[in-house]
Amino acid sequence: MKIAIYPGTFDPITNGHLDILERAVRLFDRVIITVAKNPSKKPLFDQEERYTLIRAAVKRYSNVEVDTFDGLLVEYAKKKHATALVRGLRAISDFEYELQMALMNRKLDSTLETVFLMPNEKYTYLNSSIVREIARLGGDVSGFVPDVALKALIRKLQKKK
Ligand code: ADP
Repeated sequence: MKIAIYPGTFDPITNGHLDILERAVRLFDRVIITVAKNPSKKPLFDQEERYTLIRAAVKRYSNVEVDTFDGLLVEYAKKKHATALVRGLRAISDFEYELQMALMNRKLDSTLETVFLMPNEKYTYLNSSIVREIARLGGDVSGFVPDVALKALIRKLQKKK
């Protein structure tokens, strides 16, 4: 049974994240999409909210588990018996940071591989922070995020006003 972990902040989950998840699901028997707490990024949605949005967005997959984690990713992966980490690569700009993380994680656990997947071209410019910014300015982000995340964004930003 090949288990992969797809970790991230997912603040909130976007169609780009879902594109990567869909590719991972075809490669592995089980994919655990797991939400990092990441307080340093000062997320708009707290960890529980991000988790709940993903749960709603990935209901259709039978081999996907949604979880949260805090702490060292390699330890979490070991606990979950995972053999791979999945990360998305959009552009060369992602590469340097992702390479550094992948090599560091390999240093910490040489049995854990990082697998990079490329999204459909239409998602290469998409990230959660752009989505948050457009939504905050009143723009339409309905083509970029699943419906639950769209509704949550609208609710959250109304509350903040
Ligand atoms: P992190 O804070 O760990 O970068 P993110 O939530 O931004 O978390 O993203 C998690 C993973 O998903 C990262 O590997 C990121 O490169 C990837 N990712 C995010 N948006 C996209 C996208 N539009 N297309 C492909 N991969 C993406």
